[in-house]
Amino acid sequence: MGVVVPWPALVLRAVAAVSALADLALPMSCASCGAADERLCPPCLADMRACLWADGPRPVAPNPAPTGLPVTFSAGRYDGALSRTVSAYKDDGRRDCRPVLGEILAVSLQAALGQPPLAHHLRDGGPVLVVPVPTSRAARRRRGDAPLEALARAACAGFTTAEVRPVAVLRPRRRVEDQAGLSAARRAVNLEHSMQVRGRSEMLVAGAACILVDDVLTTGATLVEAARALRSGGAREVMAATICATQRRARASAARP
Ligand SMILES: [Zn+2]
Repeated sequence: MGVVVPWPALVLRAVAAVSALADLALPMSCASCGAADERLCPPCLADMRACLWADGPRPVAPNPAPTGLPVTFSAGRYDGALSRTVSAYKDDGRRDCRPVLGEILAVSLQAALGQPPLAHHLRDGGPVLVVPVPTSRAARRRRGDAPLEALARAACAGFTTAEVRPVAVLRPRRRVEDQAGLSAARRAVNLEHSMQVRGRSEMLVAGAACILVDDVLTTGATLVEAARALRSGGAREVMAATICATQRRARASAARP
């Protein structure tokens, strides 16, 4: 996959992936609404498409944006069938939704890679490290695996190894409270200095261009801490890409009517 593709083509690619998954029509239930016989039923597919911004991924930031938040691209609103599918994938064991969500994340990733400074880094020979935000030990125990790492690998599948390299170089350094239910300020304090570059990845990160990936941008606290950890590990450039962004806090940074 090249790095310069017009926005509408990116969105079409994501929608095609969603449709292809529906075509499998295996005996299943809809990951979004639970309807029988389809992984994602037609109304939920249509709703998921409607959650993706028609003009492609955009830079998003919570309002107010926390200090240290890297430039972050998202493909749509955390809403409706998209939000339910993200939750089903992460917390309800619906790992069969990885291709769809991976494709949407890839679209965000590609948008970020097309912007400076990462675009310059790619022109100079790349690759860019694609770094999933680390999963807390408690969440990893509860889920039995690390769905975000798998999603980061899936999102990188359409790129060449000269362009991107998915690497889980961050790890939690201490126990944190569950972020759900905490205010933005509490989330920031909860996460402060909670992540670090893995010892064996220090050489890889020093001087590297990195793009953090996460499923949802909410308050930005997770990306702020992950970016801090990468920069303190010597990363030269840090950007971020997520599948979607919450609307209550996040807004497109470009002015819109
Ligand atoms: Zn459904």
